[in-house]
Amino acid sequence: MTKDRVETVEGDGYASDPEAAEVARAIRSGDRRALARAITHIESTRNADRQRGQSVLEALVADSGNAFRVGITGPPGVGKSTFIEALGLGLIDRGKRVAVLAVDPSSPVTGGSILGDKVRMERLSVRPEAFIRPSPSSGSLGGVARRTREVMLLCEAAGYDVVLIETVGIGQSEVAVASMVDFFLVLLLPAGGDELQGIKKGVVELADLLVVNKADGSTLEIAERTRQDYAGALNLIRSVSGPWQPRALLASALENRGVAEVWQAIEAHRDLIEASGELDRRRREQSRDWMWKLVEEGISRAFREQPGMAQAIAREEESVEALKTTPAAAARKLLDGFLSARSAARKRRP
Ligand code: GDP
Repeated sequence: MTKDRVETVEGDGYASDPEAAEVARAIRSGDRRALARAITHIESTRNADRQRGQSVLEALVADSGNAFRVGITGPPGVGKSTFIEALGLGLIDRGKRVAVLAVDPSSPVTGGSILGDKVRMERLSVRPEAFIRPSPSSGSLGGVARRTREVMLLCEAAGYDVVLIETVGIGQSEVAVASMVDFFLVLLLPAGGDELQGIKKGVVELADLLVVNKADGSTLEIAERTRQDYAGALNLIRSVSGPWQPRALLASALENRGVAEVWQAIEAHRDLIEASGELDRRRREQSRDWMWKLVEEGISRAFREQPGMAQAIAREEESVEALKTTPAAAARKLLDGFLSARSAARKRRP
């Protein structure tokens, strides 16, 4: 491998790798250990392992795409794991196989994990029809999201009918998750007063469904009021574009009420966007966007790792900060330097 090989697009040309083909076969036939191992390779920080993971993914990509892809977000304590467990068990009762993945934005920053610290979904995790995988544990949000996306494709190839991708509703992770799913579900707490507490307008804009959880016991009434407030907000914020009108529902994950209705809404949404061609259009667009993100990442990395570039970047940054040059002129100079160094390197190659 040459030194300047762009890491983010490693793996091309490995699809014919016989070892990868064997692992791919095992995953297709439902071998959980093979799936778990391939995921470990995808998530590895070792180049050789990552390449192995990419080869398996390439061998399986044609088998991906058959699942319902559902993103689920909400603040800590809203009941995400309780809800996912209830939903997952209900789906298994209907004969479906369910994969649960997570994008945990806290781990890269603090080294700790909001989603993963407690024992979660004990009843679901012991079911052979379920596959639960915690968030990749290191890297930028972009890196974590990318690996989760790749793991989703592996799970689809392994025959899971529903992939639930969970994230804590703080920061940018919900945007990343929304960009890889077909349906985006936001869980909310019953909130006091008639103001919309703790939810950003941006999250409402992403949501296909808002669900006020903990609609039970003493919080039932306040949950219904909260639901009405959000339903009103949806009407204000969201104009109907496309066939689906986002809505607000009540649920009690703890008492397993309203959960089946949420699944019905997801199925109704799926029917609509499938019939209108929206599902196909959205997935094509997501794949294209994803490719471009990888290209941009790769170019950016190659740019920074070009020999001599670090010094040039430091120099230009200083000039820009001291108002000795404009950002545009500095950027042009860096790009010119990068491109001419690349073409000189190419000429030197035999
Ligand atoms: P997460 O942090 O969003 O994953 O939330 P958890 O699923 O861990 O739930 C946080 C707490 O809320 C736990 O004590 C749950 O038992 C409780 N909880 C979850 N769903 C409900 C619900 O529908 N009603 C009530 N009353 N409590 C719930």
